[in-house]
Amino acid sequence: MKAFVIDIAKCNGCHNCQIVCKDEHCGNDWSPYAKTQPDTGQFWCSVEERVRGTVPLTRISYIPRIGAQTEALREYAGEVLMPREDGLIVIDPEKAKGREDIAEKFEGVYWNAELQIPQGCTGCAHLLDNGWAVPRCVDACPTDALRFGDEDDLAEEIAQATRLDDDSHVYYLNFPKRFIGGTVVDLAADEVVIGAEVYLKDEDGKVVSLARTDDFGDFIFKQVEPEAYRVEIKAHGFGKKALDADAREADLNLGTIDLSA
Ligand code: SF4
Ligand code: SF4
Repeated sequence: MKAFVIDIAKCNGCHNCQIVCKDEHCGNDWSPYAKTQPDTGQFWCSVEERVRGTVPLTRISYIPRIGAQTEALREYAGEVLMPREDGLIVIDPEKAKGREDIAEKFEGVYWNAELQIPQGCTGCAHLLDNGWAVPRCVDACPTDALRFGDEDDLAEEIAQATRLDDDSHVYYLNFPKRFIGGTVVDLAADEVVIGAEVYLKDEDGKVVSLARTDDFGDFIFKQVEPEAYRVEIKAHGFGKKALDADAREADLNLGTIDLSA
């Protein structure tokens, strides 16, 4: 079974994968694998930009999306797929004629009204069957964020990965969780507090992580689970400060925390 493994930590948002997917499939008829993709409206590969946090503590994450490679699609419409030993999900444009229901049911599958066929990522099966080791999008990725291969060969990465759909063959490494950050200051002295110990505790009071404020008084906890926490700050010469940090809904900028107050 073939799979994509996407390392979010390596993706720089260049959109190469999306552009070459268009280059490969718009205006090119790769029958019997795929008919030409319309110039607009379809995104077999796309790159979602997620801006997280609030100014001035923000981060941007890029989430490449490759659709149509789910077992749910195979189960629902197996009769219109090309039979393949490598397990790639390739909608046969002849067998799938008139099946608008497939495009309606599955994100990442698009209805081509002109040709009356549902279309989506084919894994570039036409290239793989002609000697390419990887699809166009993977070949064009400059950072190796995008990888492709047999699930057995990628088992180690897959064991640590997450998926957007439980039955998808697109896996993500370093998928963004939550961050919690802030700036510790001594307003009475008009200074930031450097080297303060910042404890992240769960609801049972157990320390989940420890950070120290940097030369700007800033601290950040990255890749924490989306849960409710309590942040405790200790610094020489100040009393302990504690505050709630509920990261269940979104990343959290705790803002300026004054130890002198
Ligand atoms: S494998 Fe091919 S069809 Fe699928 S997203 Fe990549 S370039 Fe597009
Ligand atoms: S080509 Fe690679 S680095 Fe560029 S957006 Fe796609 S996955 Fe990210």
